[in-house]
Amino acid sequence: MLLDVRDLRVEFRTRDGVARAVNGVSYAVAAGETLAVLGESGSGKSVTAQAVMGILDMPPGRISGGEVFFQGRDLLKLKEEQRRGIRGAEMAMIFQDALSALNPVLSVGTQLGEMFIVHRGMSRRRARERAVELMDRVGIPAAGDRVGDYPHQFSGGMRQRVMIAMALALEPALIIADEPTTALDVTVQAQVMDLLAELRRELGMGLILITHDLGVVADVADRIAVMYAGRIVETAPVRDLYRAPAHPYTRGLLDSVPRPDRKGRELYAIRGLPPNLLDIPPGCAFHPRCPLARDVCRTDEPPLFDAGEGRRSACYFWRETLGG
Ligand code: ADP
Ligand code: MG
Repeated sequence: MLLDVRDLRVEFRTRDGVARAVNGVSYAVAAGETLAVLGESGSGKSVTAQAVMGILDMPPGRISGGEVFFQGRDLLKLKEEQRRGIRGAEMAMIFQDALSALNPVLSVGTQLGEMFIVHRGMSRRRARERAVELMDRVGIPAAGDRVGDYPHQFSGGMRQRVMIAMALALEPALIIADEPTTALDVTVQAQVMDLLAELRRELGMGLILITHDLGVVADVADRIAVMYAGRIVETAPVRDLYRAPAHPYTRGLLDSVPRPDRKGRELYAIRGLPPNLLDIPPGCAFHPRCPLARDVCRTDEPPLFDAGEGRRSACYFWRETLGG
């Protein structure tokens, strides 16, 4: 397994108490596999990724438990300088906002070239050539003419391609893309997603796609993990989950997105609010919002039940959910 996250826990010390942002997340990604991580804002998707990448804000953050095996090593046991060597070269991250992730005062060619100069010992001229090749590869038109341009001179979609090029430069084994298309127009979103999927296939890397929008990842992900209140509540092959969810929260998410195959059906909104991480409800964290909640849900935290065919659901009533 390329990446194997086990029972990861992250908390933040805040003025009002301890926010339990990640509460025992386990997921794995194989080489060449795409895992989508889905959940509402605040469910712990980014914090989990930051802990994996080693870029968590500490303090106020603290990893209070778990293991992160990457190519066999537990990253949480490595020294910061060892982790720095892994970041960029072996695992890279793509963020939502390219404008703030890129350096505004350096041309994109300089920023891309720097990767090759620092990590690969290339000459300035050779690094420039590689930068143009890479820009070309990620679909930036007239790459040779644009290599000297600055980030603000590119459109949002093209800037996102530049950031993808940065992430790919050293051919990492794993890429984590955190809401990579959230800031883009719908058509550009699809283009950038297609590019990521194509590069993943071609280079055989593992890909984690973080999103709050299932529509965006349904076509490109293999598996999907749904997060709620810092836990994974359901994981399944993406097609199966899309067809028939095994957790009421996933069902709520699906029913609240417009879908071409469900034209005419009324859109549904999950009632209530996301949980306060300073005070997560006992039992199943979703129970106050759940249409199926019964007594056991209010007292006993459900484990991830094996719901067959590669799916797991943290719902006592997963059979009922699947069937409904
Ligand atoms: P998302 O699923 O939207 O990516 P995040 O993983 O970014 O959610 O955040 C989960 C929760 O962790 C937030 O709602 C917040 O309570 C807490 N959190 C994240 N970053 C910080 C921080 N730097 N300081 C304090 N709390 C934080
Ligand atoms: Mg996030």
